[in-house]
Amino acid sequence: MKKYDIIGIGIGPSNLSTAALLYPYRKKIDYLFFDNKKEFKWHPGMMFPDATIQVSVLKDLVSMIDPTSSFSFLNFLKRTGRLYMFAAKGHFDGVKRKEFEQYFKWCADTMEELSFNSTVEEVNYENDLFEIIVNNKIYRSKNLLVGAGLTAKIPDCCKPYLGEKVFHNTQFLTTSNNYSDQKITVVGSGQSGAEIILHLINDKNVSPENINWCSSAYNLLPMEDSPFSNELYNPNYSEYFFNLQKELKNNLLNLQKYTSDGISESTLNQIYEQLYNNKFLHGKPDVNLYMNTRLTGVEQDSTGKFYLELSQKDNPYSKINFQSDIIIMATGLKYNIPKFLDPIINKLSTTDGRFEINEDYSIKTNKSLNGNIYLHNGSRHVRGVADPNLSLLAWRSAKIINAIMEDNLYDTLVDKSVINWNLGKLNIQNHEVTV
Ligand SMILES: Cc1cc2nc3c(=O)[nH]c(=O)nc-3n(C[C@H](O)[C@H](O)[C@H](O)COP(=O)(O)OP(=O)(O)OC[C@H]3O[C@@H](n4cnc5c(N)ncnc54)[C@H](O)[C@@H]3O)c2cc1C
Repeated sequence: MKKYDIIGIGIGPSNLSTAALLYPYRKKIDYLFFDNKKEFKWHPGMMFPDATIQVSVLKDLVSMIDPTSSFSFLNFLKRTGRLYMFAAKGHFDGVKRKEFEQYFKWCADTMEELSFNSTVEEVNYENDLFEIIVNNKIYRSKNLLVGAGLTAKIPDCCKPYLGEKVFHNTQFLTTSNNYSDQKITVVGSGQSGAEIILHLINDKNVSPENINWCSSAYNLLPMEDSPFSNELYNPNYSEYFFNLQKELKNNLLNLQKYTSDGISESTLNQIYEQLYNNKFLHGKPDVNLYMNTRLTGVEQDSTGKFYLELSQKDNPYSKINFQSDIIIMATGLKYNIPKFLDPIINKLSTTDGRFEINEDYSIKTNKSLNGNIYLHNGSRHVRGVADPNLSLLAWRSAKIINAIMEDNLYDTLVDKSVINWNLGKLNIQNHEVTV
């Protein structure tokens, strides 16, 4: 039976970037990537027509490592006949999420080594090779590349009711709810929660009876995206962060949270404007905003209505109760060890439910194996806030490819950055972390 050098699990932007950078070497390296979706899709439940990407278009699948690659966003614009019109728009900001999805799909459609409709059920290790079971068929590979994404964080009190009326924001546009005349609660105030609120108050075809928006943050906070915040999304910083002590890493992750978890200024401005217009011009009901609160209880009556309890974060005796027909949890995503790794989990090193990761993004093992498992988008705890973001995709892919091929196929030596991260040691032990 055929033996692959690399099998990739999941075809989101992370593994798609690796596939694009492997493409020039496809005659030398045997690889295959699997994804359970029918075709490439990028977070379809949040594909609002006007949503924009939150990074520079230069942070596409390849350009930060190989600007000459044919899989660049620029080449996509050229090949699809829109480069002049794109340039005529006069700016490179505000590229729509929809257009970046078209670009990803255009790349995916070009590569033969990608197999959709292919669910990875189980990974075993036999005779010095990984055995990957996909749709009941066995594939063998020396190395694995896991890019299976993140999973939804669900508050415990909502778990019993998960379904069409209680769901995570990543399913917002894929449920068939009609929100008109409904009482709706949105939990969470990151970019996703804000986009859903904007959709609900902006869309002329939707007129909810009321909207409650609650968050544990003390206010709706903007994303920190100055060029200095962007320094944290530079490979230099990732290398520096990797070598810090664990406690310091945890503190920094909290301090730097709003470089990715805040709301873009343009979304905040649009929401405020629309709230103003609804209140004074359109006579529409207010959005009830509850900040600094936690959702602490949900009950359902025999007619299907939900009764929610919110508690103030710093005073749990201060509570408010209200009724809701639909609950949307914009409560974030987290890394969970995928179930398909269960059969070999005792060979892999974990701490606090997370993998221990080597410098080259391979998972540390407690037994010596012939090949490695490399991990995309599961190293925030050791690599910093940029890990789930698009910023380091190409660089991370290049590091992984070099490690697998034991060759310097791509130059991963980092560019300059404005801050000298390695000067002395940071001491933020006494810094109060309030977020
Ligand atoms: C709505 C939204 C917008 C975002 N916008 C931005 C942005 O503008 N800029 C930015 O930097 N970051 C953004 N991010 C963060 C990040 O870039 C994306 O989440 C990105 O999609 C992560 O890519 P990934 O490949 O690691 O994971 P995913 O995109 O989640 O892809 C994982 C893939 O693995 C597949 N899979 C999982 N399990 C299996 C299995 N057992 N068998 C087969 N296939 C499997 C899944 O179906 C999926 O297709 C956004 C995130 C979200 C949720």
